[in-house]
Amino acid sequence: MRIDVLTLFPEMFEGVFSQSILKRAQNKGHLELFTHNIRDYSKDKHHRVDDYPFGGGPGMVMMVEPIADCINDLKSQRHYDAVIFTAPDGQTFNQSKANQLSLYQNMIILCGHYKGVDERVRELFVTEEISIGDYVLSGGEIAAMAIVDAVARVIPGVLNDETSALSDSFQDGLLSAPVYTRPANYQGHCVPDVLLSGNERLINDWKLEKQLERTKARRPDLL
Ligand code: SAH
Repeated sequence: MRIDVLTLFPEMFEGVFSQSILKRAQNKGHLELFTHNIRDYSKDKHHRVDDYPFGGGPGMVMMVEPIADCINDLKSQRHYDAVIFTAPDGQTFNQSKANQLSLYQNMIILCGHYKGVDERVRELFVTEEISIGDYVLSGGEIAAMAIVDAVARVIPGVLNDETSALSDSFQDGLLSAPVYTRPANYQGHCVPDVLLSGNERLINDWKLEKQLERTKARRPDLL
């Protein structure tokens, strides 16, 4: 999969895209990540990318032309399955959306900033709008990172243990069971005996029971 992120702040992605699972996904050839500075597409001599809103009101609006030129440039090189805009008024992101996006070959993620982007960008270019929750961020960059990360970990082959992503919270509609590692006894706080029993059937039963218990207590809406 190839993901092209359009942003005014490409440097924000450097750390996140070059560490941990995202680094591994790229090294293994499962994922290609590119960032594009929308400012590079400004034809204005001061490289302006935003302007005052028509009709007045606070804040600046990202202009249609640099974004359109950037998207058209990318589209002239390959087909894109989706042009995603990060937006607080978009569809709320969840695991099933991440799974769905992981099936795409190429996608663009556009990060807004300031008051947002000129509505014509959304009308003419954007195919999906995604919010990462009911709160307002300063820009779409952190939302784009969350989307890329969640999508990357469900691309087959990215995680070492193939079943690992499948046993995460939400994948089977349940929250994850609690996990423990050494020491088995931490200052009198012991790991549940069943996990040390070596009996796979009992362990699986226990995990499912804990998943149900936890989901019922914390997220009954999922059941
Ligand atoms: N005026 C807009 C908010 C602009 S915030 C409104 O009230 O809807 C600036 C940019 O940050 C947005 O264009 C969007 O790209 C991004 N952003 C802010 N909150 C977000 C969220 N919850 N999910 C995804 N993107 C968000």
